[in-house]
Amino acid sequence: MKIRLLLILLLFVASVGVLVWLYDGKAFLPPKHARSTWHEITADLEACGHRKHLKARQYRHFAKIAAAEHQYPAERLFRAIACSEELQEQNLAAAIHRLGGSYTPPGDIALYGSSTAGNLERCIGIERYRFGRHSDAEIRRAMSRGNRYAARLQVWAAANDLRQIVLLESLGRNSASGFAVCPRCGNLYATTYLDRYCPHCLTAGEEFIRFE
Ligand SMILES: [Zn+2]
Repeated sequence: MKIRLLLILLLFVASVGVLVWLYDGKAFLPPKHARSTWHEITADLEACGHRKHLKARQYRHFAKIAAAEHQYPAERLFRAIACSEELQEQNLAAAIHRLGGSYTPPGDIALYGSSTAGNLERCIGIERYRFGRHSDAEIRRAMSRGNRYAARLQVWAAANDLRQIVLLESLGRNSASGFAVCPRCGNLYATTYLDRYCPHCLTAGEEFIRFE
């Protein structure tokens, strides 16, 4: 009798053990689509980072040409744009690492460059074209997956693209003496009417990187 009770008890304990093991196994499995979800988000961040990298290199090149031509307002703006793009690329790369991915900047880059007037005309055309074709698909994708961090970086990137068009178009007819770049979010501003705090990330204006 005692042996039968002991066997029943052992059987019960073993059953409980199996149930716990099964439950734990399921509980700690990653959600079915987690891997593909993060992959999509990091792929979006990487594409944006590559675009920012190319722009930074291109605008640094334009700045060199403008400096050689003594076109200093254009040179300042090109340098400010390059700085803002580099900061945003760094933010995007850091986000990819935090999400478990890795970021490699694009390799060979063919840079374009003619006179400053030609460069200005060309980059305004390209930026306008990009803006016309750009959708907010990446932002909506990040928001729909609950990744507000990635969405915020994409919002900052898009805001910077838009402000660059405005500043490039107003170069020459604007009396703005200089430009400022927020060191945290990388957004670019004219210093004529500068907010005391970055409207995107609340960084204090004293910390802005100035191009004057
Ligand atoms: Zn900011």
